[in-house]
This record gives sequence, C-alpha cells and structure tokens, in this order.
Amino acid sequence: MATPTIITKLPEVGETIFTEMSSLAQKYQAINLGQGFPDFPMNQKLVHLVHKAMQDGHNQYTHKNGSFELRKALAEKISFLYNQEIDPNTEICITPGATYAIYTALTTVLQPGDEVIVFEPDFDSYLPNIILNGAKPIRIALKYPEYKVDWNEVKEKVTPATKLILINSPHNPTGTILDKEDLHHLQDIVINNNLFVLSDEVYEHILFDEKKHESILKYPELFKRSFVTFSLGKVFNCTGWKLGYCVAPKPMMDEFLKVHQYNAFSCFSPEQTAIAEFLQDKEEYLSLGSNLEKKRNYFKDLMSQTTFKPLPSYGSYFQLYNYEKISTEDEISFARRLTREAGVTAIPVAAFYKKHVNNFVLRFCFVKKEETLLKAAERLINFVQNSM
Ligand code: PMP
Ligand code: GLN
Repeated sequence: MATPTIITKLPEVGETIFTEMSSLAQKYQAINLGQGFPDFPMNQKLVHLVHKAMQDGHNQYTHKNGSFELRKALAEKISFLYNQEIDPNTEICITPGATYAIYTALTTVLQPGDEVIVFEPDFDSYLPNIILNGAKPIRIALKYPEYKVDWNEVKEKVTPATKLILINSPHNPTGTILDKEDLHHLQDIVINNNLFVLSDEVYEHILFDEKKHESILKYPELFKRSFVTFSLGKVFNCTGWKLGYCVAPKPMMDEFLKVHQYNAFSCFSPEQTAIAEFLQDKEEYLSLGSNLEKKRNYFKDLMSQTTFKPLPSYGSYFQLYNYEKISTEDEISFARRLTREAGVTAIPVAAFYKKHVNNFVLRFCFVKKEETLLKAAERLINFVQNSM
C-alpha cells in the first residue's frame, strides 16, 4: 500500500556541520574543538539550586512568558548593563534556548516573499529558519580576513521586500564584533527603510582585550524595532540546559508570544527558579569574558609552535586559524583529515557559507580545560611537523 510522501521544506539541508564533526570526533576518538561547548564542570552551586528548586516543588508549567522571578532578574541585569528599562511583564519571554527564540522571532515577523539580510559566514540555524517561513535570505559576505560589514553593500541590497536585518555580535564563527560605528550605520539603514532587526547576542559576556559589547539594548531607537536573543546556557557553562530568552518592545513581544504560546508554551521550570537566584551574583557573568580570554590566550600560545596562523578573536567561544602553510586542501577535506590523522576536530568555516568559499580557515573552540587544550595542541604540533 502506498504511504504518503513528505515534500521537504528544506531541500538543501542535511545534517548540521556540528553533528557531522562531533560524530566524526567520536568515531576517531579525536579531541573535539569543533562544536562549541565547555568540557569543564559548570558551577555546582547552580546545580544545587536546581535540585533545591525541584525539591521545593517548582515542577509545574511556568507562566507562558517564563518564571516572573527570572524575568525580573533579567530586566534588572539589562538595566544594570545597558541602561535600558525593560518591563518584565510584557517585554521578555523565556525560551528553550536562543535557537528557539531566533526561530520564533523570525516566524513572528516574516511573510512569504519577504527578504532578510544576513551576513555570511552565518550561524547554521538562520537560513533554514528564514526559508521555513517562505522568506528569502539575502546573504552579504563579511570579507576575509577582517570579516567587517560593508554597510554600503547593505544599503545597496535593501529592496522594497526587505523586512529584517539579522546581526550577531560577538560573531559565530569568526569571533569578530560590531562596534559603535557599525550600530550607527545599522540604525540609519533600518530607520530609513523601516526594517526590523534580529540581534543574536548569545555571547554578550564573552569579549576580550577590553572590548565592550554593543548591545542593541543600548540604542533606544534601534531597540524599538528589534528582537534581541540570549542564551543562559552560554552564560553559565551549561549549553545542554537549553534555556534562553528574547527581549523585544511590547507590541513586538505580544506577537512573539502568540507564536510561542502554541509552541513550547513554557520551559523547564526548576532551572528558571535557580537562575533567578543565581543571577543576583553579578560576578558570575561579569568574570566570564576574562576567564575565557585566558583560555583563548593559552591555546594561542601553544598554537604558535605550529604554522597555523590565528585570525583575531575579540569575542565568542571561537578563534579561526588559517592553515595555508600546512595544506592546500579545501576546508571540509582538511577538517576531516585533521580529525582522522591528528586526532583533533575543528569546524570548516566553509560550512557557514552557501556558495563554495575556501579561505583555508578552521574554527577552533577554546572553551575547554587547559589539559584538553594542551593535549590538542600537542597533537597539532606533531601533525604539522609530520606534514612538512
Ligand atoms: N546563536 C549563536 C550565534 C550560537 O552560537 C548558538 C549556539 N550555541 C546559538 C545561537 C544557540 O544557542 P542555544 O544553545 O541557547 O539555543
Ligand atoms: N553553537 C554551537 C556551535 O556553534 C553549536 C550548537 C549546535 O550544535 N546546534 O558550535
């Protein structure tokens, strides 16, 4: 008997590069510096607070916007960091991770035929999310090796169909950041063309070399038209907890909530109770950037014993390294071979582009224990020596 066939909504999509490379790492028992996650334990105090929240009975659905205590703590954090007053009743929604918040924001605003400007290399979920909504991604390349936005090109690419510009700073995969000047250019363009903004700020606390995060929340005129997305998994070294949130002005959040209430509706409640309390200690998130900067530097110092050439990383979990002096293979082949032969996994940056692009760069995640970084570097030093 015939069975129904699905007409795929994502014909060009297969397994994500993170799944592919993590499986390969497992197969070859390689050290996984590919997918972005810490391999060191998270703060045990927060683990205990979740346990306590469960024992205290915080085990049922929360309000659809999320636990009020957590929303209130987040609004206070936003006021402290960015001097922006957010109404915790109407302008924050707790979500199962930032990925879901991004999808929900795009689903809230996009109509079939709308155009969305995205900068490539782009985080892997953006494009499928746009396409699933019948909209069209307009990709603008960040130029290697600085990966800066060319705002003149952005102006040229805006059409009457443009609905939204999607930004991400600190940026995955390049580790670059947007500065004040970038935000001013963005502001001019979105105001002149009446566009929405989706600002993915999951690495808001992870900036290096005394750089400051330019959140959309610092720019009242920009915030009026923006969804801003965050990941608590990134802030507290527990990516598997998949808890995030979206901040938007009330009229936009009202629409976001219409989508959310028929989707997740509510997320794991004990985490929310625990994080609301844990957020009272500002040092936890304020020290994240300097702690991870030490890891970036530690790995970079070790890598200086190889001919991998680092590109600047000003933030995020990642640093790009160019391998032109080691191999002329394309990024995907080289990343696979590195896993097999060196026993170290990294992510080919080519995977974040639609067209074939090859700059001979791999993304390494340095958010690991020192011993992991040391072992990985030793393997890479050996590999490079044997390749000469
Ligand atoms: N945006 C960017 C740029 C990311 O790197 C990630 C991956 N962690 C996410 C969104 C998703 O975050 P979450 O795990 O909270 O869904
Ligand atoms: N954000 C993580 C990274 O860039 C991966 C998340 C995922 O696997 N979807 O490595």
